[in-house]
Amino acid sequence: MDPELDGRQGFPSINPESRKVVSENCQGRMGNEPQQNPAHRDEECSLSPYSNDEYEVGWICALPIEMAAAKGMMDEQHGDPQTPPQQADQNTYLLGRIGKFRVVVACLPKDEIGASPAAAVARDLLHSFSNIRVGLLVGIGAGIPDYENDEIRDIRLGDVVIGSDKENGGVVLYDFGKRLADGSFKNMYTLDRPPRSLRTAISKLEAEHQMCENKIPQYVSRMLEKYPYMRKKGYTYPGASADQLFRAEYRCVSGRSCAKCDPAERVDRQPDRPDSHPVIHYGVIATGSTVVNHAPTREEIRRKHRAICVETEAAGLMNHFPCVVIRGISHYGDSHKNDQWQAYAAATAAACAKELLEYVQPRALEQERTEKDILGQSK
Ligand SMILES: [Zn+2]
Repeated sequence: MDPELDGRQGFPSINPESRKVVSENCQGRMGNEPQQNPAHRDEECSLSPYSNDEYEVGWICALPIEMAAAKGMMDEQHGDPQTPPQQADQNTYLLGRIGKFRVVVACLPKDEIGASPAAAVARDLLHSFSNIRVGLLVGIGAGIPDYENDEIRDIRLGDVVIGSDKENGGVVLYDFGKRLADGSFKNMYTLDRPPRSLRTAISKLEAEHQMCENKIPQYVSRMLEKYPYMRKKGYTYPGASADQLFRAEYRCVSGRSCAKCDPAERVDRQPDRPDSHPVIHYGVIATGSTVVNHAPTREEIRRKHRAICVETEAAGLMNHFPCVVIRGISHYGDSHKNDQWQAYAAATAAACAKELLEYVQPRALEQERTEKDILGQSK
């Protein structure tokens, strides 16, 4: 490895208090507590007080509603990158601090989804912020509940799934492989597991929630207090009555609201939940090139891969960008899908990512390789 490219050498202190640049115009810059005055516009901040090399966490999302939720979770916002991204880098970035870490958020271009655009965004992000050590892929996805087997997976809309599994690392590519002579399908491609620093944080998060509730509702309501306009845009809890799961064989009668769908075809989910507190699930996230809006396909993915969630971007990241996938459940991957839960699910996923970052140890993060390290090694 070329020592000059070793990002650990001379890596600046992770403590954001070490250099405080205070601007009265910048919301939240003075401390952790969000200010109540929404008239403070963050756009008034110009350049980030931190150099590009001082950012250590990359946060990638696919949709503008997810990027807004990421912004809503920031404890402070930093303005534009000090070093403008090179011309070839077409990402737009949102810089800020979440807890102990300086975070760069990047979003896929409008109307692009899937592994290739996600890979392009990650590549450019790592190029412009070459000391990024770990990543978070945060946004919405389809939940795959299971009430038939012994191990019930009671997944509701607004819940969050973290890709984590001891056998396969937590993310499987379900539609890339080869069809064998007997007609069966063999997956040919494996994805890396999340980096160690994030997996230890996931353990801590899970342990913590054996003892007390997660902080998702707290962080979502703090965001709504800070940005009340987000209430109008659907970032509030849509209500249990808007969460309907139909039997996999039953197709939607009316597209948007399921008003004409037969209530008798609903899955009876007992016991009902005592409150609307989102639950965090840990398990396999299946990723593929197509959006699944077909319950029988969803069920096949569940049976084959033990998946509890399906999405379309993770394959573009896992092997190039050490990251964890966090998905807020906005639909069940069936014909009854509508957009009603999208914004709220984006918010619960972002809140979960914020809480996860609280359990990441800065020292563990420093052990992770950076893009500089990786480039240095491949030379
Ligand atoms: Zn329906």
